Amino acid sequence: MVEKIYDTLKGILYNDLPKDAIGNVVIYDRPVRNWFIGDRDVKPANLSIMIYSANLNIKDIAFGLQEYEYKIIIGVDAGADETELSERIALEGNRLIISALRKHRRMWVVDLCPICSKQSLSPIHFTSAHPTIFNSYVSTATTNFQNSWNITHTNAYPAPTLPASGLATEAFYLMYEDVRNNVVVNNLPTTAKNNILSMQKDNVEPIRMLYDCVVSDNKPSDDGRGQALLKTGQITFTAKEVVKQTIYGPDNVPSTAY
Ligand SMILES: [Zn+2]
Repeated sequence: MVEKIYDTLKGILYNDLPKDAIGNVVIYDRPVRNWFIGDRDVKPANLSIMIYSANLNIKDIAFGLQEYEYKIIIGVDAGADETELSERIALEGNRLIISALRKHRRMWVVDLCPICSKQSLSPIHFTSAHPTIFNSYVSTATTNFQNSWNITHTNAYPAPTLPASGLATEAFYLMYEDVRNNVVVNNLPTTAKNNILSMQKDNVEPIRMLYDCVVSDNKPSDDGRGQALLKTGQITFTAKEVVKQTIYGPDNVPSTAY
């Protein structure tokens, strides 16, 4: 659940932060040598970015809907250098991360593609990389939306165009449910089908959306005494997700326990 959010944050930061000629993220002229999921006591090289300390608050907001609120720390470590320089690098890293994150008030969280195993930041991956599988599902999703729209609108108010990412999400879930229901999906390789069946067995939610994504707290540097060798900046990132819950019990259990 938070693991894919970590991967998404890492992907967004990697994409949005400045890079050198060989593709390393740089803070001033220093390449970020390490990206850590989970913090470390010992870091093999200077300079590093850590994503850790997820705190998850869950509450029921309506019957069938839960709101998850995530609190995640993004840290920048700079050290083993002239003290003021380390301090300046930590401060600059902090500024860069905040300036990158504030453009992402909403985020897609997409699981590994079951067809090509790539990590993507947008569901548009499915329709653009695998059109032979998804083109017909995009048509069905568009028709479904227009039919729903037409129930409550006259011809004077035609249905608006759905954004490509939303259409790709609808198309993916139509395909996902066809696999679950053993409906033949044209052009879907057997390995991809087996991957999807595994995802379903593991209760994977392949495409999610975070909203109210904000940097809610920031400590640009722990610049006190005793911190001369290692400077750490900490950014607290919070985000919400609405999760649908349609099965409640108590009768969704077998009558025997073992
Ligand atoms: Zn793919």
